[in-house]
Amino acid sequence: MDLTTPLTYVKGIGPARAAMLEAKGLVTVEDLLGYVPFRYEDRSNMKTIAQLAPGEMATVIAEVRAAKLSGFKRRNLGLFEVRFTDASRAILVGKWFHGGYLANVLGEGMRVALFGKVEFDSYSGELTMLHPEFETLSGDDDEGEAALHVGHIVPIYEGVSKLTTRVLRAFTHRAIEALAPEEDLLPEHIRRQLKMPDRFTAIRQTHFPPPDSDLRLLNAFRSPAQFRLIFEEFFWLECGVALKRGKARTLPGIAFQIDDRVREKVKAMLPFKPTAAQKRVIQEIAGDMREPHPMNRLLQGDVGSGKTIVAAEAAVIAIENGYQVAVLAPTEILATQHGLYFKQILSRLGYVTALLTGSFSSREKGQLKKLVAEGLAQVAIGTHALLEKDVEFKNLGLAIVDEQHRFGVMQRLGLVQKGVHPDVLVMTATPIPRTLAMTVYGDLDVSVIDELPPGRKPIITRHATDDGIEQVYSFLKKQIDQGRQAYVVYPVIEESETQAMKAAQKMYEHLSREVFPEIPVGLMHGRLGAEEREAVMQRFKDGHTKILVSTTVIEVGVDVPNASVMVVEQAERFGLAQLHQLRGRVGRGAAQSYCILVTGKMNDTARQRIRTLVESTDGFYISEMDLKLRGPGEFFGTKQSGLPSLRVANILRDGEILEIARREAVDFIARPPSEEDLRRAVAYIRDHWQRRYGLVTVG
Ligand code: ADP
Ligand code: MG
Repeated sequence: MDLTTPLTYVKGIGPARAAMLEAKGLVTVEDLLGYVPFRYEDRSNMKTIAQLAPGEMATVIAEVRAAKLSGFKRRNLGLFEVRFTDASRAILVGKWFHGGYLANVLGEGMRVALFGKVEFDSYSGELTMLHPEFETLSGDDDEGEAALHVGHIVPIYEGVSKLTTRVLRAFTHRAIEALAPEEDLLPEHIRRQLKMPDRFTAIRQTHFPPPDSDLRLLNAFRSPAQFRLIFEEFFWLECGVALKRGKARTLPGIAFQIDDRVREKVKAMLPFKPTAAQKRVIQEIAGDMREPHPMNRLLQGDVGSGKTIVAAEAAVIAIENGYQVAVLAPTEILATQHGLYFKQILSRLGYVTALLTGSFSSREKGQLKKLVAEGLAQVAIGTHALLEKDVEFKNLGLAIVDEQHRFGVMQRLGLVQKGVHPDVLVMTATPIPRTLAMTVYGDLDVSVIDELPPGRKPIITRHATDDGIEQVYSFLKKQIDQGRQAYVVYPVIEESETQAMKAAQKMYEHLSREVFPEIPVGLMHGRLGAEEREAVMQRFKDGHTKILVSTTVIEVGVDVPNASVMVVEQAERFGLAQLHQLRGRVGRGAAQSYCILVTGKMNDTARQRIRTLVESTDGFYISEMDLKLRGPGEFFGTKQSGLPSLRVANILRDGEILEIARREAVDFIARPPSEEDLRRAVAYIRDHWQRRYGLVTVG
């Protein structure tokens, strides 16, 4: 048996169980062995019930003597109580609140391993465990091998469908027993230097730790065996990233000329003096553009840091070299906004821009596409519509992708393929925690704008509850009397922009008729047509409308410097990143700006989110918190974000191992011990990249 053997060859795994495993993505022996324990229990020092002392964590093997469900009428809410006994004849009571479901699991006469904190119930005078972990040791599954489950440190797996930790432990054990050791591909010198066990040993010891293992290290995922598996997963991932990067650097690309004429044009376009940070990043970008290889650069900067103008500078360089520029934006409203912005600043230089979004009629689209195809428009700005097959460029030289985390890697590629190795500039306003940036954008060079334009005052953020809404309104009124403008935003429930639109519509009517009858109020939502949307935006920009009621379609990119108040209704429903983005719509001018988060009832994480925002305006801090509160998958909120699917490693927990692995990987690819080592590594990565990490192939 080797790592590629299908799991059906493991004794005890028939078609039904194989199907359950497959639903979890476990198909081969390698998959199963990659399904590592999420914790370990020390069952080596087991006690009898009579030996238990209150206050200690302990494991006992005991038999169910009686089980009963008591308490409430609704069965599921009841208290499930089990009286256990063992050879010492003493009694231990296990208690589970909401434990009704256990009635079918723990029956009289069953043998069970129990793990939990021992307590003394002074009322009944009995020893108890509240919600102990348990594992049935007898039952209808024929997974015998009793020695596997008690008497030493035991791995605990998350159940897979109906397969319990016990069953999985037995399968894993059988697979390891039958496995022929294979060649270890991890470079020998790295293994030795980091004192890592070989692969086979690492797999075995991660599942079945040797007797002298340190339980604390195991449960912290830092035993030598676990370290090796985590390291290895990151190492190959980062090798793949390094190869991709290296390959892109050798591709032929456009070497843009940047001479005084081009510099003059860029200067003539600038509506203000760039900040030092903006100057630095445009230097980095210009440096890449000069090279005869495609640029792959990520431009990071907090909301309001002024990324757009930097993108426009790059655009001028490309256009002055006779090339076209594509600007891809995630939402219609942002595309519209960019459309207006680029049109305004680039028309000064006599360039033509074309805005392509889904809401144009096909006739209009046809005309715009023709402009782009014939090279008559130098800049094409749009949403996904830009990616459609029939959008062709005469001479695409620079692709700008805004708010990249909303686009998948595939979409980035889709745009790039419309040119011949064009330069790519990816912009994101959601600062990405370092470890995530390394894995998801590892193939990109990074520029950071770490400074806000001059004269910005930090936005003051306040939390208000629904019953304080009158005060919020009177504050709004005061700001508007002082000449300011405001946004009032309603949540979009992902599935139903229609519902959000209705809520916004209703609020629009309420605000414009009852609360602020004398103030012009505007309404913006995703169901407006392109022209209408542009008109609504324009009226707000011109200052005709004072309050803009909107769904979250204004979340990214919208830029009206005179707006100084952002009111977010039902703020408890928004994610951290989203709230930070929304808040970033204000604080763009010289006036003091405010963000008011209005909430109803909140759960704990919502409260934590609101508190984080009230306390901080630092995008990097907020994104770290966001990552912690939600985890990496949710952080990007999209499956095709390019986030690798890791098995053993965990980006949140294992950041420092990732750093080490990345360093070693970069070094290994740049200076492999031998050609043969590199060749084998490349072959291995090519075979595993897609399946292992769910990423696009290295090519
Ligand atoms: P973001 O990085 O969020 O995309 P924008 O590019 O929309 O930020 O810029 C935010 C606002 O700051 C815009 O109104 C822009 O015109 C203004 N701005 C950007 N850079 C400067 C600067 N150097 N001086 C003055 N205002 C600037
Ligand atoms: Mg922006």
